[in-house]
Amino acid sequence: MAGVYAALEEALCRAGDATIIEWAGRALHGGDVIAGAEAAAGVLAASGVGAGDRVLVQVEKSLEAVFLYLAVLRQGAVFVPLNTGYRTKEFAYFLDDASPGLVICDPSAADEYAPMVHGAGAQLLTLDANGEGTFSDQASGIKATVDAALVEDHALAAMIYTSGTTGRSKGAMLSQANLLSNALALGRIWDMSRSDVLVHALPLFHIHGLFISLNTALLAGTCIRLLPRFDITLVLDALPGATVFMGVPTYYVRLLGEARFEREATKGLRLCISGSAPLLLETFDAFEERTGRALLERYGMSECGVIASNLPGAGIRRGAVGLPLPGVDMRIAGDDGSALPANTIGSVEVRGPGVFCGYWRMPEKTRAEFRPDGFFITGDLGRVDGEGYLHLVGRAKDMVISGGLNVYPSEVEAAIDALAGVDESAVIGVPHADFGEAVVAVVRLQPGERGDAEAVIRALKGELAAFKVPKAVVFTDDLPRNTMGKVEKAALRNAHAALFA
Ligand code: ATP
Ligand code: MG
Repeated sequence: MAGVYAALEEALCRAGDATIIEWAGRALHGGDVIAGAEAAAGVLAASGVGAGDRVLVQVEKSLEAVFLYLAVLRQGAVFVPLNTGYRTKEFAYFLDDASPGLVICDPSAADEYAPMVHGAGAQLLTLDANGEGTFSDQASGIKATVDAALVEDHALAAMIYTSGTTGRSKGAMLSQANLLSNALALGRIWDMSRSDVLVHALPLFHIHGLFISLNTALLAGTCIRLLPRFDITLVLDALPGATVFMGVPTYYVRLLGEARFEREATKGLRLCISGSAPLLLETFDAFEERTGRALLERYGMSECGVIASNLPGAGIRRGAVGLPLPGVDMRIAGDDGSALPANTIGSVEVRGPGVFCGYWRMPEKTRAEFRPDGFFITGDLGRVDGEGYLHLVGRAKDMVISGGLNVYPSEVEAAIDALAGVDESAVIGVPHADFGEAVVAVVRLQPGERGDAEAVIRALKGELAAFKVPKAVVFTDDLPRNTMGKVEKAALRNAHAALFA
């Protein structure tokens, strides 16, 4: 297996005259993309970035940001993207942790970051949402092409900081082979090809927009309609002629809120893929009713890329996140790592070419999350049905043990969400003298609805076993979410810790 860039370059060359990226009214061929990556690589070389050096990138989405990413891969350096929502204090943590040789940030942050970056011995360049800044200034002055690095399969290609949903973000070290194997497998199971047109509205700082969308599409020679961000009007305007869309569940919820998103507007879309967070059944159903086709859900994480996916066409199962990807060994295990039978809930564990090389500078944590036989403990809980499809029930850290019995929040949340007047809910466990933990529901109602905790509890008693029914229901205007839009259950647990004290 060659490095990721070598494989991408070959695919770009093979695509010939076909448009590979559409951006701001421009149509770029494979050769244009290669030229952009080569110029960006020249800047990296001039900045002294070599194999294995981290390049810390916190920039808005742009065509030039794509070139920068490709250039880092090309030079055998390590791409370390940061969520654009992170502020100075958070940036300081990542700068210290990643110890990069080069930082590229938005010009608006440069003054504040510069002392820290220079103090850490790194260089600083800028790149804005229009693709302008000192990085692009240097790239436009590059005359000669620097040679691409010869990279080994096991060399690091990227370090992705996890979303920080369950604690401090960890740097997941991903090798060239990790990225390439995952993108190739996805291209195969999703039948991505040169006849596809992908509407790309995801951010580039997360595996979803970067590896799952971009790498897969580039390798397949698919045309990428690159949008600066998820914006309803931009997406709807980009749909005519498109065949594939990828998004997080909230994108679909928001699209379904628009009357324009209906059968006629979506008829060309052969594949709408959802991932990164749980997809509610009501969203799946509403999507099917509106468009006449099923949303395809898949499951992945920073550490592993995509682990399981539904399959296009007849291979979609409502409520399941899919079958393990080709080459992925997946098991549902008990506490000791032994495999559990079908339909039993346990820890989702994976082994395979996409599984990361460990957490950056966290050897203890890395050791703790791998079994002796090489399986990675994902931290998610699920079961595999008789057909082999994985169904997730939530994160291990969010499971509630009440009176010695396991309560899976997702099951209780689904029952609450189905009640009239409820918009969404989050179920947590809080300390309780008798039960150890008590089930608590934090509920957001639909506009104009009045909260009646007793009524919610009464309704749930008819639906769920008594030990799963919340001991308290708290109403809220909004659930706390991190910058990836994931509900922060740890914050909710803290906020309600004294409910039964
Ligand atoms: P951290 O590891 O820092 O706590 P995180 O786990 O949210 O944060 P990511 O790697 O971005 O960071 O997200 C991976 C997680 O997202 C998975 O472990 C899983 O819990 C969740 N996830 C991904 N896809 C799905 C899906 N289709 N359905 C439900 N959950 C999903
Ligand atoms: Mg995680």
